[in-house]
Amino acid sequence: MAKIVLDSVDKVYSGGVKAVDSLNLEINDGEFMVLVGPSGCGKSTALRMIAGLEEITGGTLTIGDRVVNDLPPKNRDIAMVFQNYALYPHMTVEQNLAFGLKLRKTPKPEIERRVKEAAAMLGLEPYLKRKPAALSGGQRQRVAMGRAIVREPQAFLMDEPLSNLDAKLRVQMRASLNQLHERLGVTTVYVTHDQIEAMTLGDRVAVLRDGKLQQVDTPKNLFDHP
Ligand code: ADP
Ligand code: ADP
Repeated sequence: MAKIVLDSVDKVYSGGVKAVDSLNLEINDGEFMVLVGPSGCGKSTALRMIAGLEEITGGTLTIGDRVVNDLPPKNRDIAMVFQNYALYPHMTVEQNLAFGLKLRKTPKPEIERRVKEAAAMLGLEPYLKRKPAALSGGQRQRVAMGRAIVREPQAFLMDEPLSNLDAKLRVQMRASLNQLHERLGVTTVYVTHDQIEAMTLGDRVAVLRDGKLQQVDTPKNLFDHP
C-alpha cells in the first residue's frame, strides 16, 4: 500500500492540448479514490501519468516515498486494469493469472499460492482451465482483475474497467470491487464517467473538468446535499 501524491501536475500533449492543469491530489494509503468527469476532462491522462504510461510535463508525482516522475512503469509497483481486458487468448485462465509473475521470476509455489488465492476471491476456480473465448464478459473482467491482484502491488489503477459490461453485470462487479477493496485495502485510483460508480465505489471522489480539479470529497458530501 502506498500514498500517491500529485503536486501541481501538468500534462501538455505535443499538439498543445493541456489535458491536465496544475492537478493537486493526495490519495491516502489504502484509499479508494475515484476520478470522475465528462469525456475529455483529463481523467485517463492523469491515471496514465500515475502508471508511467504518459510523461509528466510539469509538477511532482510521488508514490510511497519516491518521486516517480522519471521512473518507468515496471519500477512503480502498481498494477493497471483496463476496460478491454487484454487477456492472452491462447492461454488458460490459470496461465493468464500466472503469466506476469512468471515474467518476474516469482518462485513456482508462490505463483501457485497467489493464483489460487486470487481465483478464490474472484470466484474463478471453476474456470481455471478455460481459455478467454469460453468466458463471459464479466468473467473476463474478473480474470483481468485477478492478474492485477496476483502481483500484490502497492496500488491498483483502473480505467473504466466496467464500461464494456451490461447494466446487471456492472452492479455485480461494483459489489465485487467493494468487497475486494475491503479485503485487500490496496490504494486504488479508479477512472469513470459514471456518477453511480463514483458514488458506490469511492472513499473519496475527485471531480475533474477541463483538466482541473473542481472538487474532492466523500461521495456523501458531494452528492447528498439537496
Ligand atoms: P478523459 O479520460 O477524461 O476522457 P483524456 O485524458 O483522455 O480525458 O483526454 C484529455 C484531453 O487530452 C482531451 O482533450 C483529449 O482529446 C486530449 N488527449 C488525450 N490523449 C491525447 C494524445 N495522445 N494526444 C493528444 N491529445 C490527447
Ligand atoms: P464478445 O467476445 O462478443 O464480447 P462476450 O462473452 O463478452 O462476447 O458477450 C457479448 C456481450 O454479452 C457483451 O456485451 C458482454 O458484456 C455481455 N455478456 C457477457 N457475459 C455476460 C453475462 N454473464 N451476463 C450478461 N451479459 C454478458
